[in-house]
Amino acid sequence: MTVKKIDHARVKSLVTELLEALGEDPSREGLKETPRRIANFWQEFIEYDAGKLDTTFSAIKHNQMVCVTGMKVWSMCEHHMLPFWCDISIAYIANDKVLGLSKFARIAHKHAHKLTLQEQLVSDISNDLVEILGTKDVAVLAKGEHLCMTMRGIKTPHRMISSALNGQSRTANGIFTLSRCLRKKPQSFYI
Ligand SMILES: [Zn+2]
Repeated sequence: MTVKKIDHARVKSLVTELLEALGEDPSREGLKETPRRIANFWQEFIEYDAGKLDTTFSAIKHNQMVCVTGMKVWSMCEHHMLPFWCDISIAYIANDKVLGLSKFARIAHKHAHKLTLQEQLVSDISNDLVEILGTKDVAVLAKGEHLCMTMRGIKTPHRMISSALNGQSRTANGIFTLSRCLRKKPQSFYI
């Protein structure tokens, strides 16, 4: 995968400017290294390399729903540039390919490492999986907390749930199986 590059020197100087605009003295002891640290953070965040994502293994069609749950990823809200975290669950029914387990986490991290929204993150993961697995029977669910709501504005801790359901996972049967796999109430999928 191609990794985006940031302009590290520019981010550093813009953070110095930001500190000045906030009425701070960027040369004071506690802030001297802050622009560099923040530029390093953005570099680590944006230039994230998820590695190889599409290692699949051939499988006999078994019609089982496979669920991978509890994958926690951190991302950044594009509206406020504040962090949010999500617990991602992925379920799919293999056609003739199964995906190496770690790849689910890699795909989730790949899409989390950019300015985005939870809804977009869930769709991006789902689209990748549909393409790599060659099946439409894919469900991606996320439960997250957004610091732009917890620490600013209404200042309320919360959980936001979003889901991208494709193929069989959209049917009543699929939702019933998903709800059992993920120990969630079936109603929570109809949002
Ligand atoms: Zn936000």
